[in-house]
Amino acid sequence: MFIDEDSLNGILEEADSPSEEEVAAVLEKGAAMEGLSAGEAAILLNSDGDAFREKLFHTAARIKQRIYGDRLVFFAPLYLSSHCVNDCAYCGFHSSNKAPRKKLTADEIREQVECLIAMGHKRLLLEFGEDPKANTIDYICEAIDAVYSVKRPDGEIRRANLNIAATSEGNYRRIKEKGIGTYQLFQETYHRGTYKTLHKGPKSDYERQLMAMDRAFAAGIDDVGLGVLFGLYDYRFEVLGLLSHADYLQEQFGIGPHTISIPRFRPADGVSMKPAHPVTDEQFLKLIAILRIAVPYTGMIITTRETAAIRETAFNIGITQASAASRTEPGGFGKGAVKGATQFSLSDKRTLDEVAISVMRQGYTPSFCTACYRKNRTGETFMDLARPGDIHHFCQPNSILTLMEYIEDHASEEGRKLGLKTIERDLGSMENDKLRSETEARLTRIKGGARDLYF
Ligand code: SAM
Ligand code: SF4
Repeated sequence: MFIDEDSLNGILEEADSPSEEEVAAVLEKGAAMEGLSAGEAAILLNSDGDAFREKLFHTAARIKQRIYGDRLVFFAPLYLSSHCVNDCAYCGFHSSNKAPRKKLTADEIREQVECLIAMGHKRLLLEFGEDPKANTIDYICEAIDAVYSVKRPDGEIRRANLNIAATSEGNYRRIKEKGIGTYQLFQETYHRGTYKTLHKGPKSDYERQLMAMDRAFAAGIDDVGLGVLFGLYDYRFEVLGLLSHADYLQEQFGIGPHTISIPRFRPADGVSMKPAHPVTDEQFLKLIAILRIAVPYTGMIITTRETAAIRETAFNIGITQASAASRTEPGGFGKGAVKGATQFSLSDKRTLDEVAISVMRQGYTPSFCTACYRKNRTGETFMDLARPGDIHHFCQPNSILTLMEYIEDHASEEGRKLGLKTIERDLGSMENDKLRSETEARLTRIKGGARDLYF
């Protein structure tokens, strides 16, 4: 078993009260962008204080900048069904919560997708509760089809990532055939005892959850996303759990996780559980920076569970993808919003345009790029490009092109002005002259009405 609790606890104990020299050595190794072992990460996890924090953030920010540049990729979650047979103590959809449930029909899905496209979204994360009767694999496949079927003059969904409960290799093959982007599944907690206490229903099987990615790989899915729900157990143990899982996938399949998500517990209607190990803002930002240094080439996702202020700092020290303008109930977008169970409450309720403006003011380039998976740059191919930093050559022009589409089709006046300035700055920073002039030519085509141009 690749999660060995005694060994992870031993690593944390051994790294207890590290010296300044040990911390400096780990940060120096991290700065070389070759990642960290669990023991090295534990040294950082066990360190605190203002001076340490400053150095940690500085190292993480440099890595982030060197590998990902100024880009920040946006997506929105789309909740399809709140029916769920599991009784996860932390979640608003847990089965003993008697709040009304909602499962979207194909027409309702298309309506929701229209709203999301109108905002400017091109990338969604589809979310379902686990219910073998209500949310069958056929329903999930039809829902994916419905999402991709919506084509509007101002855009379409080009990449649907998926978050469904752990399932069989056969079912993973079905969703792979539907053309999903990343398959995400969070372990919630790598600590077996805590996992047992908080889950009832089919999800209570720790091994089923832990080994799900093996079945996904066997089914041909090669972009997978890991995650932990922070607050359930000691965050230091959970970070080592994530790193062990990432190492295991790398060894077993030659491909590490495409993304790591770091949801932090939020209150939810109908949920009385209080997190036993609440993670403070300071600890949360620290763990983001440590993950950035430990797995430099793995994308990191933050959601609207977090406040605008936390997100702003998190973008600097490691986050590469962010959700914006989210709702956590099926049917939550648009005027005819349906009332029913929400999964959890949100902290950042700004519109996509407001978030885009704020990140541009911070110096980032909002990106709506979906090119890699459509160009088959997934799994090993993606990692081979990402590791030497070559992926930057595609990502930078693609972020510029998708930002121009956003400006043309969706942005407010302020968004437009800032967007054009951002594009000008990014074009100026492109080192490859040929690529710059090709990007400029495509920008002219987008202004003339062409869409969906990518490298
Ligand atoms: N039913 C699928 C499953 O359990 O894997 C989809 C999960 S749910 C739609 C997405 C994630 O939200 C969960 O995996 C969990 O980590 C997170 N989540 C659930 N309740 C939460 C809460 N109260 N606060 C923050 N995140 C929560
Ligand atoms: Fe259901 Fe997922 Fe919520 Fe658990 S986390 S109650 S499985 S929707």
